[in-house]
Amino acid sequence: MTSDIFVFVECKDSKPRKASLELLSIGREMASRFSSTLFAVLLGSGLKDAAGTVARYAGKTILVDNGSLAEYGWDTYGSVLEGILKKYEPMIVLGTSSATGKDLFPRIAARLSTAMVSDAVGIDLAGEGIKIKKPLYGGKVISWIAPRADSAVIVTFRPNSFAVNDAGESGEIIEEVAPVAGNPAMKILSSERKVSGKVDLQEADFIICGGRGMKAAENFAELDEIADLMGGRTGASRTVIDSKWRDYDDQIGKSGKTVSPKLYIGCGLSGALHHIMGMDTSKVIVAINKDPNAPIFQYADYGIVDDVFAVLPALKDELKKTREET
Ligand SMILES: Cc1cc2nc3c(=O)[nH]c(=O)nc-3n(C[C@H](O)[C@H](O)[C@H](O)COP(=O)(O)OP(=O)(O)OC[C@H]3O[C@@H](n4cnc5c(N)ncnc54)[C@H](O)[C@@H]3O)c2cc1C
Repeated sequence: MTSDIFVFVECKDSKPRKASLELLSIGREMASRFSSTLFAVLLGSGLKDAAGTVARYAGKTILVDNGSLAEYGWDTYGSVLEGILKKYEPMIVLGTSSATGKDLFPRIAARLSTAMVSDAVGIDLAGEGIKIKKPLYGGKVISWIAPRADSAVIVTFRPNSFAVNDAGESGEIIEEVAPVAGNPAMKILSSERKVSGKVDLQEADFIICGGRGMKAAENFAELDEIADLMGGRTGASRTVIDSKWRDYDDQIGKSGKTVSPKLYIGCGLSGALHHIMGMDTSKVIVAINKDPNAPIFQYADYGIVDDVFAVLPALKDELKKTREET
């Protein structure tokens, strides 16, 4: 095992995702703290420009640019990443707790018999080694995990766990030609990409989330307007998705997406544990609910006990004014 730190970089539309730039930023701090080298790993097709961006964060960028990696597949990506990690033997691998990360990293950890911490939200570099912060039981318990110094570890972090620092001097780009193994038992015949044009829910700094108290699909237009004003995104509770008021893509919670925005505003949702598990690491939580005993108020930094339909127009007007002034 080396002392190298690896960051697996995910791309969207051939550009590194913000969540990966966050990992590169904290990875750079770790590399300077432990006098180790920060590597970025980029797998895909047509990613030369992305590698150029990433190289301004990492000491070394490993690029595997291969047509067979144009679309993510656990078999293809898994075989290439496994090969690279076996070759370079890093001390720690950082990845994002995204759909891809959740699919890929447990498989890699099993194949390499490596320890893994998933869904972490922070890291402490002040002591001897590293300590990883991971919420448990829907955020009711915060655990700190110290990986053993003599064995490698894979850690996935929720998006928005770290700030993105400024890029620096460009590091070296290493083009690896790695064999891409497929799973002969499975073949993707076709795939259709849904283009939403919305801010990525997991990467949004601002989320306004509606629950059953929003009463109807059309009332979400008010939330969309506020989200647009703030350059953020509208989310929804599962009840809303089950009622077909919004797409599943908007769902926050245990069976939806995990988010950590700078500001989360919950509108007419009760704060059931299954929902809380997906948003409790938001930096500031505001709740609007007409029931003063709604559980969401136990998690909120600021609570408004009122009818959501009275509060939202006033909030929108204030935001518009502030936007016009700036
Ligand atoms: C296995 C499993 C997985 C689940 N996964 C998820 C998940 O991923 N995400 C998720 O969200 N849920 C999930 N759930 C469901 C979860 O347990 C709750 O049922 C759901 O979150 C409740 O949604 P809600 O808060 O919108 O509705 P409710 O619990 O019905 O709350 C509605 C709230 O709106 C308030 N309200 C009503 N009218 C107004 C008004 N005019 N102004 C202000 N407030 C008003 C009410 O006081 C109430 O508190 C899951 C459940 C299970 C069993």
